[in-house]
Amino acid sequence: MFQYDQCLTKHLDSLKDEGNYRVFLDLERIVGQYPRAYNFGDYTSVDGKCPRNNLDPMGDITVWCSNDYLGMGQNRDVLDAMKDAIERLGAGAGGTRNISGNHHLIVELEKELADLHEKEAALVFTSGYVANEATLSTLSKLLPNCVVISDELNHASMIQGILHGKAEKRIFKHNDLEDLERVLKEIDPSRPKILAFESVYSMDGDICPIHEICDLAEKYNAFTYLDEVHAVGMYGGRGGGIADREGIMDRIDIIQGTLAKAYGVIGGYISGKRNAIDAIRSFASGFIFTTTLPPAVAAGALTSVKHLKQSDDERQMQQRRANELKELLTEAGIPFIHSETHIVPVLVKDPVLCKEVSDRLLREYDMYIQPINYPTVPKGTERLRITPGPLHTTEMLKELVSALSSIWTEIKLPRAA
Ligand SMILES: *Cc1c(COP(=O)(O)O)cnc(C)c1O
Repeated sequence: MFQYDQCLTKHLDSLKDEGNYRVFLDLERIVGQYPRAYNFGDYTSVDGKCPRNNLDPMGDITVWCSNDYLGMGQNRDVLDAMKDAIERLGAGAGGTRNISGNHHLIVELEKELADLHEKEAALVFTSGYVANEATLSTLSKLLPNCVVISDELNHASMIQGILHGKAEKRIFKHNDLEDLERVLKEIDPSRPKILAFESVYSMDGDICPIHEICDLAEKYNAFTYLDEVHAVGMYGGRGGGIADREGIMDRIDIIQGTLAKAYGVIGGYISGKRNAIDAIRSFASGFIFTTTLPPAVAAGALTSVKHLKQSDDERQMQQRRANELKELLTEAGIPFIHSETHIVPVLVKDPVLCKEVSDRLLREYDMYIQPINYPTVPKGTERLRITPGPLHTTEMLKELVSALSSIWTEIKLPRAA
């Protein structure tokens, strides 16, 4: 007889053997004190209970790896908008968009997002993941005999969408224009082509050559699909992302983003021409057959998007903190990927040691950076992905680099030249 439990245990054991088994922290971020948070895993391990009454109001740990990049998850206006929406419209949406769930706040949010990207329309999904998966799979099916051309480092949600679309898939080397053109040239000019790529790549923090990619797309008549998940809210005069900063939003057919990272809430979206958005609205299973995001979520996201459209302070502070961190790491000889963005990946290049550095940071210094191992990044490039933001202080940055430097010495990791 087949041993179900044994089979699954074997899979888990192989992860553990490689040092790639994922352990989640039991966290509570503290409004008003963020990036400070409680690590409840520590309390429950003592007596199985969390001592709510004698918690340090400043929290236990400093979070260094959050995708709530700008601290909008605790922005007072965002929280008030969410509370107000709950009181006025209730907890859930009560249905899919088609069947009674199309509440006014989601309609307003889509108008706001279309305006953010200077597009005719936008469509909100449950998450950025679902937006990518649903849109790419649906587009691939709607365009007859289509080919999807995909950057080799595209996010898992795009890869899944392309897979489910069942169209022919061609991969080009990461941000490599020559390789992209080679692929484009090989495809029959009459066939529809979707060119799927990201602006800021989340694990290395590098930016695509967006103008040149658009030039190639135009030359070979490809439909451009851009994931701006790690850029919306953070780049461009109004937070419209890298395409906004570069003034070429009109050259991208569909811009995709998330409401969960810089905007600090949850949800994903696409924006583009009215017809393209209407087609996805009408045919995408992952949009049609699921309940609308709750009014409170839409209200929070709407407030956050509006705020970051007119406030540049958070963006400037984020860039300043990222630059400070890069300077401190350079001084200390800690190896990292020199990106031009807010993402600062410190390279350990070994899954077990990467977890060791992370564990020591947490146990000895109350600093939390999740180790990033395979399959999120290629084997041999294991790293600590640090995302400093406007709420980290210069003092915190210095403490972090000093802690890293001590650990580097203790476990004899190589310094940067
Ligand atoms: C996080 C992420 C997504 C998914 O967005 P969610 O809103 O978290 O589902 C999509 N693309 C990229 C590049 C991401 O890093």
